[in-house]
Amino acid sequence: MSSTAEPPPHFIIVPLAAQGHTIPLVDIARLLGERGARASIVSTPVNAARLRGVADLAAGDKLPFELVEIPFPPAADTGLPPGVENVDQITDSSLFLPFFYALRDLAGPLEAYLRALPRRPSCNITDWCNSWTAVVARRVSVPRLFFHSPSCFYSLCDINADAHGLQQQGDNDRYVVPGMPVLVEVTMATKPGFFNEPGWEALQEEAMEAMRTAEGAVVNTFLDLEDEFFACYEFTLGKPVWTLGPFCLYNRDVKAMASRWNKPAVVQSAITSWLDTMDTDSVIYVSFGSVVRKVPKHLYEVGHGLEDTGKPFICVVKESEVATMEVQEWLSALEARTAGRGLVVRGWALQLAILSHRAVGGFVTHCGWNSMLEAIAHGVPVVTWPHFADQFLNERLAVDVLGVGVPIGVTTPAMPATLIDDDDDVPVARADVVRTVSALMSGSEEAEERRMKAKELGEKARRAMEKGRWGRGA
Ligand code: UDP
Repeated sequence: MSSTAEPPPHFIIVPLAAQGHTIPLVDIARLLGERGARASIVSTPVNAARLRGVADLAAGDKLPFELVEIPFPPAADTGLPPGVENVDQITDSSLFLPFFYALRDLAGPLEAYLRALPRRPSCNITDWCNSWTAVVARRVSVPRLFFHSPSCFYSLCDINADAHGLQQQGDNDRYVVPGMPVLVEVTMATKPGFFNEPGWEALQEEAMEAMRTAEGAVVNTFLDLEDEFFACYEFTLGKPVWTLGPFCLYNRDVKAMASRWNKPAVVQSAITSWLDTMDTDSVIYVSFGSVVRKVPKHLYEVGHGLEDTGKPFICVVKESEVATMEVQEWLSALEARTAGRGLVVRGWALQLAILSHRAVGGFVTHCGWNSMLEAIAHGVPVVTWPHFADQFLNERLAVDVLGVGVPIGVTTPAMPATLIDDDDDVPVARADVVRTVSALMSGSEEAEERRMKAKELGEKARRAMEKGRWGRGA
């Protein structure tokens, strides 16, 4: 008997090849699958190999999730070292621009894949930074939603700053972002914007144009977190915005969390067993995301600061940060001095598994939106230490609007370590770490209020992800 049932909607998802952009779109692909849609993630060989675990897990769960591999342009054409297909592989800052230009060459293979499909897909969801997908979607007549990785608050600031410029406050370096429902102050150094370095003008204009021509936007956020910014953003954008997050809450067990991206450096059960011995809300977790790389003297200030707080901690350092014997020995000595109350993870940590443990009561974060939202979704207050891009505005949201953050006090951006001169002053000293971590974890009235707000938001986040609560806006 033949079935006349309509096939499920088919979403083609094209993430930017950077963890902070790919991880949330992989989560949304699995979520779509769980809610009955089919999702295909388009990736290039190096990234597809890293996504194999998540594809296998989805297959085991019988989710209609597939991984589509298209070729990355050859090194001879891009000027990139062979095998470099992800932002986290770039060790020389002069290669960021060629990397983003190389991505444009994926348009041809993406179009060929879309044209070869037996049925036209329902919708493309493509990263805001992948503006090259706009032309492809138009050519094959498939609607396109853009996914911009930060919050509605950030995106609204960005659009307003782009449309009206920033308004100077007095004669100092403080500016107000116009058109915001709350006062948002920035400096020229911390103003909103992706791709706003000299030399990136063409890419920025393409991204803005791709935003203007999209059918709508998908945001990893939830209404109870930022309903007024959502409403203003949708109005200002002039197209529908779907707030479908926090996507991370799709991952309900360690297996799902572990499949999200890299292989964890330490078996999670060892970390969980250690956390099980700790008091509730007593441990401070420290991680600076997937891109920020700290030079040794910055790392040492973090380590000394954590040691001086006297609090239990888990500190994540990247493989690339522990490349020298000097740093390795320093970290081993730190571990010896803080034995029993300090853990150093060298490499990839299962951040979600750590943040969701009852013992973790604070997070020193670089304010990447995923990290911020993962903290909020698990009711964990934060020490905010922004570095670049949207992170300074994420700090403003956490500290000024939501009341869940203590700012460490950085005022100038610091790009990945490849751009930091080792002779520069440290932007944050150990005393800043002690001051802010102590304020966060002190149990004072102010600290308890902050924690209560974080926990309330965590509850609301969980409710936002209950089935039946999805839709445009709400
Ligand atoms: N992450 C992780 N383990 C690590 C470092 C990062 O699981 O050791 C994850 C983290 O949970 C988040 C993402 O990587 O989902 C980082 O994204 P975010 O937006 O916070 O920062 P970015 O890496 O883009 O700067």
